[in-house]
Order: sequence, then structure tokens, then C-alpha cells
Amino acid sequence: MLPQYESFLDATPEKGVIMVEYWWQTPSRLNAKKARGAERETRGAKTSMIFFKRVLSADKCWCGSAKTFGKCHRRDDDWTYVSLDPDRRTYSPVVLLERIFPHINIAHVRAQLERDQRLLPLDKTSDYAEWALPAHPPIVNDIGQLIIGTLDVSTRGLRIETNSEKRVEHMTGLVAQMLGAVLGKNETRRAEPQKTFHIPRMRE
Ligand SMILES: [Zn+2]
Repeated sequence: MLPQYESFLDATPEKGVIMVEYWWQTPSRLNAKKARGAERETRGAKTSMIFFKRVLSADKCWCGSAKTFGKCHRRDDDWTYVSLDPDRRTYSPVVLLERIFPHINIAHVRAQLERDQRLLPLDKTSDYAEWALPAHPPIVNDIGQLIIGTLDVSTRGLRIETNSEKRVEHMTGLVAQMLGAVLGKNETRRAEPQKTFHIPRMRE
């Protein structure tokens, strides 16, 4: 489960990890203004937040091994960035990933995803549509609704974007189930595991 907001003041890499999570936020006044530009309809916003998650040396490690944090993933030289796994029992290292399915029927897939009540709308133009996939069961707090990644459909095909290996596999399975179809070959691109952290900009 998500931790409380903890102070970074005395945080060091050996005392815990940095949690990276994404939220979907309902359209703000800023988005509403953009929506009046007619051509682009912004229907929500994706934002990211980081937390310090304190882990004691004798606590079970966040990765789900039977070892203690002190004997497993604890580091003293560099921060470890993690995100909650879809099953919400463990965490995985943050790796930015995108998986593209180029051989889909674009119009058909887009129409099916637009009808799917599980998805939270993000962006929509004549040749681009994007949604956020919420964590299940939902977590809603004062930031917004917790999401595990995004899906978009464009002329490139269907694309999944998320930040851990477990999330991309989970989302691939879920999307195949939503579409009830074989998605065909895919291509996955991975960024290097994050060593330095930057806050991703909000999508315009
Ligand atoms: Zn571990």
C-alpha cells in the first residue's frame, strides 16, 4: 500500500527507497481552457509524484524476496527507485518502458478502447487518443487516482507506456483481454534503470 508522505529531510539511500507513482487528475481549469481550442480535447492529466518510503534494515525487502532489506536490496551509495507492482504486494525497480503493437486495426482498437469504462481519458485528437489505466481496486486520494501506465493509439499503432517490467507485462495481458484479439508482434524499448531522477513533465 502507498506510504504516508514522509519527510526527505533525513532520508538516505540506506534508510529506504524512492517510490515513483503516476496519478490521473480530472481536467483542471488549465485543461478546460485548452479544450476550448476545439481541435484538441484534453480530458484529464497525468502527473507523477515521488515519495520516500522508509524501510528498516530488518524489514522484509520491497522486492518480495524472503530476505531482509539489509541483506537484499539496501544500498548506501545511490538511491533505488521503485514502483508498486500491479498485485500491490511488492515493488519493482523503475525502468521506463514502451511497448508498441504496430500491426493492429487502428480504428477498430481505438473504438473499442473508447468504449471501455475501465480507462481514464487523457488526450484526444483526430489521429491520437490516450488513456490511463487505473490501479485496481482504485486508490483515490487528494492527488488524484493512482494509475499504472498509459495506452495510446496513433498512426504508429497501439502503445503501452509504463515504468516497470511487471507493469508492462500486466498491461499487455489486460489490453489483450480488453480487445479480445491477438495483438500481433510488438517491439519493446527500455530506458536504462534510473540513476538520477527527473520529474516527467505533464503532457501538454
Ligand atoms: Zn530485495
